[in-house]
Formats: sequence, C-alpha cells, structure tokens
Amino acid sequence: MKIVLGSASKNARPVLDSLKIADYFDAIADGFTYKHGKPHPDVFVTGARMAGAQPAECIVFEDAAAGITAALDGGFVAVGIGRYQSLKHANLFIKSLEDVDCEKLVKLHARCCPATWTVSRSGVDTARENAFHTIFCVGNGRLGVRGRIAELPAGGRQGIYLAGFYDRFSRPAQNTASWSPFHKYWGDASLAEGEQIETTIVNCPNFIDAGWTVSDAAGSEKIDFSTGKLLSLERRLDLRSGLFTADAHWVSPAGRELRLVQRRFASMANTARVLVQYELEPLNFSGTVAFRAGIRTDSANSSETGPQKLYDVLQKETLPNNGAAVLVKGKTDGRLAAFASAVAMADRPAASYAVGQTDDGIDIVARAAIEQDRILYVERTAAVASDRSPGDPLDAATQTLSAAQILTFNEARIESTARWQELWDNSDIVIEGDPADQMSARYSVYQLLIAASADDPGVSIPAKGLTSEGYRGMVFWDTDIHMTSFFNLTQPAIARNLALFRCRTIDGARRKAAKYGFRGASYPWETGVSGDEECEKWLKLITHQAHITADVAYALQQYVDCTGDLEFYEDHAAEVLVDTARFWISKCVPDGDELSIPDAGGPDEFHVVCDNSAYVNHLAILNLELAERAIQHLQRKAPAKLAEIMKRTGLTDDEIAKLSSYPPRIRRMELPGGLLEQCEGFFGLRQEVVKSGWNTDPFNTQTVKQADVMMLLYLLPDAWPKEAVRANWDYYEPRTIHESSLSHGAHGMVALEIGLLDKAEKYIGQSLGMDLHDQMGNAAGGAHMAAHGLNWSAVVRGYGGSRPQGNMFCVHPHLPKDWRRLAFNIKWRGADFTVDISGGRVSVANKPEAAAALPLLLCGKECTLQPGQSITA
Ligand code: BGC
Repeated sequence: MKIVLGSASKNARPVLDSLKIADYFDAIADGFTYKHGKPHPDVFVTGARMAGAQPAECIVFEDAAAGITAALDGGFVAVGIGRYQSLKHANLFIKSLEDVDCEKLVKLHARCCPATWTVSRSGVDTARENAFHTIFCVGNGRLGVRGRIAELPAGGRQGIYLAGFYDRFSRPAQNTASWSPFHKYWGDASLAEGEQIETTIVNCPNFIDAGWTVSDAAGSEKIDFSTGKLLSLERRLDLRSGLFTADAHWVSPAGRELRLVQRRFASMANTARVLVQYELEPLNFSGTVAFRAGIRTDSANSSETGPQKLYDVLQKETLPNNGAAVLVKGKTDGRLAAFASAVAMADRPAASYAVGQTDDGIDIVARAAIEQDRILYVERTAAVASDRSPGDPLDAATQTLSAAQILTFNEARIESTARWQELWDNSDIVIEGDPADQMSARYSVYQLLIAASADDPGVSIPAKGLTSEGYRGMVFWDTDIHMTSFFNLTQPAIARNLALFRCRTIDGARRKAAKYGFRGASYPWETGVSGDEECEKWLKLITHQAHITADVAYALQQYVDCTGDLEFYEDHAAEVLVDTARFWISKCVPDGDELSIPDAGGPDEFHVVCDNSAYVNHLAILNLELAERAIQHLQRKAPAKLAEIMKRTGLTDDEIAKLSSYPPRIRRMELPGGLLEQCEGFFGLRQEVVKSGWNTDPFNTQTVKQADVMMLLYLLPDAWPKEAVRANWDYYEPRTIHESSLSHGAHGMVALEIGLLDKAEKYIGQSLGMDLHDQMGNAAGGAHMAAHGLNWSAVVRGYGGSRPQGNMFCVHPHLPKDWRRLAFNIKWRGADFTVDISGGRVSVANKPEAAAALPLLLCGKECTLQPGQSITA
C-alpha cells in the first residue's frame, strides 16, 4: 500500500522532515501542487495521481467534514477520524488510526468502493436522455425528482412528483371503430364513449429550474450545453447517499470555457427538502454571472392531446433570505401543495439577489463577479409541503425552507447520508465477482428505498414509484406482490405503512364490491390514494383483474408472518382478510359439486377474460383460509375485536361456515402430475405463440404475456412438489413472451427452485438490467418498481436461497458461477441476522442486538441462533 499525504498547508514537507517521518510517504500533495482547496477534491485527486492510482483505488483518512465531502466527491473511500457528529457521511468512522489494520481496510474498500456504488454515464445520448432522467432520479418516498439538468434543455421536460398529490386529466373519447385487437379484447365499447376523466399523479411546479448567463467585456451568453461544445459531461448517482452529480466541461459558442458541476439530493433525513449545489469555474475569462433560480409553474402532464397543466397557482410569495414560494391547487380535486426555494452564494458577500414574478412562476436572480480559475459555489435549498399534512402548506413549506437554510448544502448532506446509511445497514446486498450484478442489485434497493414513504401510511408505491407519471402514478398489485418482501424482511417499519395503506383504503374496495354486485371488499386494480377504482373506466381489467383482492390478502398475511406484528393483525389485517374472503364467497358460483370463479383472470393480461384461473382460484382459496385463521385467532385472543368486525362488516355465520366449506370445492385446475391449466379452456386454445404487437391477436392462442401459473408457483413455493413445478415450467415457459417486467424475475426464481441454473441466470440477468440497461427499451417512462422488488427477491430468496418456511427461516444458497460472495441482512420476527456466502460456505449470524432467537433451517439442518450467535455450514 502506498501512502500519500494530502494537506492544504505549504509547510507539510518541513513538518514531516522535523518529525523525521517523511520517508513513510510515497508522495505529498500540498499547497504547492493542487489548484482548488476543500471541499473540492483536488488535493486528493492530485495525491492519487502522484501515487499512480485511481481515486477509486484509494482510501482517504480525514478529520474534517469538508475533507470527507471532498474525498467522496472525488470518488475515494473516506474514513473519518475525530468527532462523529461532523463525520457521519464517511464510509467508516474511527477514533484513531490505531483502530485500523490492513485487513480491515481491504474489507472496507471492497464494501465501499465507489465503483460499486456509483451509477455513471458519460456524454449526451439524445435518444436515451429520457431514460437517463429515470435512472438518475433522486427521491425519498415523499417526492421524486427526475434526473434532468436544466442546462441541457434538449433532454426533455423536468418531472417532479409528490407522493399522494393527484388530480385528474381528460383524455379524448375512444374511437372504438379503430380499436386494435388489444383494445377490443380489454375494452368494453359501451363504456368507452365520451371524454375520459382519469386520476393521475401531478407533474409539480419545477422548483429546481435554473438558468445561467455569463458576461464579460465581450458580451453575454446563456449556458446551454446543446450549443457550443460540450467537451465532457459526466453524470453520477451515488446510491449510498442518493446524491446525483452532473459534471460538465463546456465551451460556449463565443469561446468562453467553463466547468459547471451540480449536485442534488432529496433529503432522506428531512423528506420535505431538496438541496442543490453548483460549482461554476470560468476557465478562460472573468466577468459576471447571473443565476436564475426559478420555480416554474408551467409544468404539465403529458397526454394524448398534448401537455395538460393540472394545477392553478393560488399564490406567489417573496420570502426573506433570497427565497420564493408558490402555492398551487389541483384543478379538479383541489388538493393543495406548496413549493419554496432559496439561493445563496455564501462566499460572495457582494452578490446581489432579486426576486421577481414572471408569467410562468417566480424567479430568484443572483448576480456575482466571477474570476478565471476561481470556483463560485452556489447553494440552493428547496422545500415542499402538501395538504396531506396538517396546517397550511404554504406556511409549512416556508418554515421548512427557513429551517433548511440554517444548514449548508454539505451539512444537510451529512444528515441525509446518515439516514441513508441506516437504511443501507439493513438493506444492502454485497455481491463479489460480478460488478454489473452488484451495481444492479444495489440500484434496485436504491429504487425501492426512494419510492416508499417512511412516514405516510396514506400513500403506497406507484408502479413507476415517484420517477415518472407513467401509469398515471397508479398503485397496482406490483406493490403488494412484488415489492413488499423486500420491505417485510429489511425495513419492517416501512412495510407496515405499505400494509396499512390497504387497510385504510378498505372502504374503496367495499364500494367497488357493491358496485359490481358482490359482498365484502374487492380491491381496485389501480388506485392513487383514494382507495377507489381508478383504472380507465372502459377497461375490463377493472372487473377481471380480480386477483388483486387475493393479492392484498396474501401480502397482509406475509407482513404479519414476517414481522409477528400481532397488533396489526388483530387491529387492521383481520378485517381485510375477512372482507376480501367475503368477496370471493359472493363471487363463487356452483358448478356441479364444485365451485367456479367466473370472469377473473390471472396476471396474464392476454387471458384475463376467463373463468377459473388457476392463479385466482388458488389464491382465493388461500384468502378464505387466511380469513378463517384470523377469525379463529380473534375468537381465542380478542373476541371483542371479532365482535366489532362482525358488526362493521355484517359478516354472517353462514359466511363463516363457508370459509371452511368452500375451499375444498373450488376448482383447482390441476391435472394428475400437477400440471395446472392456466384457466378454463386454455389447453384447447391454439398452440401458436404470437409475438405481440398491437395488431396481433394472442388472445385465442396459448401465448402468455407474463408469469401467471409461474407466479402462483413462486408465491406458494411449498404447495407443489418439484416434479409438478417442473411440469408447469416445461409447459408454460416456452409459451411466455415476457411482455411485462413482472415476468423475468419470477421465472428466474422458479427456475432456481427446480435446478435450472442457466435459465435462472438468463431471466434474473434480464430482470436485474431492467432499468440500468433499459432491458425493455422503456426506462424513459419511469422505473420498473415491480422488477426492482423482484430483483431483491431474486438475489436473496433466489440465489441466497433464503426465505421463511413455516416457523423456520430457511437458508440454502446456490450462487451463479461468477459470484464469489453474496451477503445480505434479514429482519424476521425479531431476529436480525446476516447471511454471508462465499467459498462454498454459508455463515448466518444473529446480531447481538436482535430482539429474538432465529429458528434456522441451514442447508437442510435445523438449529436455533440466539442473539449474538452464529453458525457456518
Ligand atoms: C402488467 C400488470 C402490471 C402493470 C403495472 C402491466 O403491463 O401486465 O401485471 O400490474 O403493467 O406494472
């Protein structure tokens, strides 16, 4: 290991000489050798270069907050020595250098090396800019900001979304005469007449809009990377701290050369805040700069008829300390939201500021002198509020803004990074041996963490998270079935919120059941926050994707089983289990000795208009069984609560009896040997596999859009013997065209269960690359959140072989060929443990701070790990 001294001082060498320790150092980067002082990383970058190393190969030891920031920005691993409070953002904190040894450092480097935490893209790729906006999205569960940079206007519009801030837009009347085969199959022409008013997540005012004008004696120019010459543009997203950086080197059309670096994050510590920092360095001129920080109120949602702005501006305010704010109201639903922003050029006391209203919003314009080779730092603080929280949103945003202004960008960053660190401590996945898989797995965890609200159980995760307005911001079964395993097993507090969302919106499900003549609760195929059905009104999916109801019941039980949260079970989940079961009872129709469930398809949207879907019937059976189990539990443990539920729901004794008498009678669609017929009549359809497209007609064939029977096998892994799983795989896998991102990961996991490693690697690889490698060519439209959830499961449950099995937690890994190591954390029923797999060995350690023992089935052997105990097999 080479050692370099980095110091701002010009006396570094004499000090080392006097101490007679100069020989220990391979190089000295001091006040003579670099250009910019901290927090610029120059001193470290110069030092690394002197030692012939890349920053990512080095570890920086630092005792100052700005030094840690500089090291991280330069792409180094950073170790903080000294006072923890100001060094929380370091990769490791130590009290003294005596606390470290080489082995520790090598491990630290492997874990923290920025190369495994940083998503980066170089240059501009016009065709893919919109996909980059999705990839580089920052967020914190309350808000999402797409990764656009204002200086590249050709890259498309900005998108900013607040959890739970929905309104409605109108879509033109459907032209049923020109419907494609898909429209005809999914649509009900009688419902498609007239204008369609649909709920959608609102594209909010752009409170990070920016514009720059640089001037000198020769004139003025705007900074616009689409003009002049963009010598380089590096975009990076540090997953560890949710920090997006765009680092540009640009020459203007008139020849002014400059570097403009911008950093932004949505604070994880205080989720109402977004922070932006700029570094502007003129490289061949001096003059002045005017920086316009706008809150633009012309942002609009995209629609078939062009952009639609979904809010009215109620108020624009000038705030103290170079701030401005706007209050807006949703056009139709009238929901309120406020956005505030302020600018500071802290090291330029002579800077001037002016706030002025424009037709399209409100601008803060800051002006300052700039000198060649001297960096101008500009910091921008922004705050949001909505009427989801009590109080006036404008007051709330204003107050949050002024509280945020007390902190510098880097101080706010330290706070946020510390919260990120807590999240990663539970949720990180370490993969050694395949850097691309490592990156993808971490990226999926990142996407899940920025999508979920830690404090608002009134919102859930839309199919695209808060990364876009795709699918109108609707919440589907994607969340319940594909994402919750990650939260149940690594972030139980967030998992509880997601589960609570379904319980709190049960009235919407009751309204839907009643509307279609059923009892109990029938969950909406799509909903925002209302809990009501908000799917396009003419789509048969509303009635035929009824599996969502059983999915919700399944997911609630999973939450309870993983966490042991009995209070939640009794106070919230039981009622949903009961009322969803009542829906199925009322949907069943006698069919000889059996019961049929008509008009309900499984996940395969090419065959939703069908009866007796295997997926639906088996999960409906489970739903009934879970309801019965809940009632028995309440009878024993909380009869008063059961009485309340019976009163509220009108549950009858007759229905209670059916909870046990119906399941054996519901058609199981199973042939001897375990092959499941996807739905009634499926085996009689044409054998052909149709490559999909709007003009094709896969509906009368056995072409399967996405995991359906396969999904059932994945959800109930202990329900069928391996031979039966294999028989289903052999039948359905060749017929499935994976036209949904919800398909690949599930196939990969089923393939692993039956030992098809090559197939598993293929499917899981495709799923891991869903957004980062734009696997389906539509990452521009927003993140594929279900795939991100599946990715976590594919790594942990799939390759890690780790999942709950009854009252044990089972660990039985099978790593892909290239992986040298896989390690992750699990929280399960109070146990809090790490699984670490490498070199043919697997170690499980229940952490000393765990609240419960871990009943473990490790590679087929049973044992119990008390807190603090570990075992290797
Ligand atoms: C899939 C659904 C999914 C929805 C939202 C559709 O294409 O078929 O299963 O819920 O996308 O992701």
